[in-house]
Amino acid sequence: MASTASESKRVVIVTGAAEGIGRGIALRLANDGYNLGLFDLPKAEPNLTAVANEIRTTCGVRVSTVYGDVSQEEDVKRLVDIVVQELGSLYAMIANAGICINRPLHETTAEQSDKLLDINVKGTFYSFKHASIQLIKQGKGGRLVAASSIAGKRGFAEHAMYCASKFAVRGIVQCAALDYGEHGITVNAYAPGACETSLLTGVDEYFSERKGQPKGSYMEVFSAGSALKRIAQPRDVANLVSFFVSDDAAFVTGQTWLVDGGSVFD
Ligand code: NAD
Repeated sequence: MASTASESKRVVIVTGAAEGIGRGIALRLANDGYNLGLFDLPKAEPNLTAVANEIRTTCGVRVSTVYGDVSQEEDVKRLVDIVVQELGSLYAMIANAGICINRPLHETTAEQSDKLLDINVKGTFYSFKHASIQLIKQGKGGRLVAASSIAGKRGFAEHAMYCASKFAVRGIVQCAALDYGEHGITVNAYAPGACETSLLTGVDEYFSERKGQPKGSYMEVFSAGSALKRIAQPRDVANLVSFFVSDDAAFVTGQTWLVDGGSVFD
């Protein structure tokens, strides 16, 4: 449950909420009863508006939409300020926005590497930083949750800088858990395996083309690589995020949990 009957609903921010895993998380948390601040790039405005309208009409919770880029600190600060102004005290930040670029390491350009690290690592840093400033000021604890990956647990061919970014997220999560435990703020990450989204379509297209196979060929490879013999749907990941945000997860912090149908074991 998002809050007790006597309290106003808790407020959660989800970045990268216009589609994919972020959209799945937003829908699940709205069903759980949270008010939501949804954030995405300006070009995602039609999709984010559709997600917000779907939630408003089906879940009866309040939704604010904010546009910007998680790799720009002033955009993330503005996101937190606007959501707090419109919806009230913040409870949780879900730093979900991220991108994937596949290349063998020696074919990866400095620009590609910078873009990956700016969005996946600095985006997580800024999201946690401005949420934690607000949570500490409020003095009532809270939740920070980030997007790592199976690629944050072990290496994969032609993923060097993506893996670097997702290992970095694990490191940020462990350190932030130690920084904020005394404030009653828990910090965790989800580590999905292949999940059916636009990001995964891009990975499939890259590897299928490299191997001279038709688009879609790698989806079968991803499915075959897990114990449950299927790729994830966004709701599979959202179920774990719902737990991380809930009161039931009060004693879980500093963790990066796999949600991959059994493909990487740690
Ligand atoms: P997606 O491409 O389907 O959706 C990502 C969303 O983030 C989009 O709405 C996009 O507009 C937004 N976004 C991208 N860059 C942004 C920026 N700079 N600022 C604000 N918003 C931005 O991706 P997804 O598959 O839903 O991935 C979500 C997260 O989960 C990512 O961090 C990704 O690395 C991680 N992940 C995905 C998979 C997978 O198989 N799909 C597996 C492991 C981890």
